[in-house]
Amino acid sequence: MTSHEPLWPQGLCAGCGLLWPCEPVVAQLVDEHGLGLPLSAALWKLFDQAAHAVPTAPVLALYEQCIRQPLALAEKLNRGDRR
Ligand SMILES: [Zn+2]
Repeated sequence: MTSHEPLWPQGLCAGCGLLWPCEPVVAQLVDEHGLGLPLSAALWKLFDQAAHAVPTAPVLALYEQCIRQPLALAEKLNRGDRR
């Protein structure tokens, strides 16, 4: 969990090159916050950081990447459905 940092404006992980936040980042956030509102709040912070890093990004795409998609991934991880 050391090198999984976002690269903006590409929106990729500096550690593994996948779309950010990548699975290790989401797993870490779930460990820290669980699956409820605190996780959403943590993802909102990511969204906020991304919005500052890429102020010209389409808001819906950023929302999808920083909040919706990680929430879906978090639920998947929680079900033990790792793919
Ligand atoms: Zn990564």
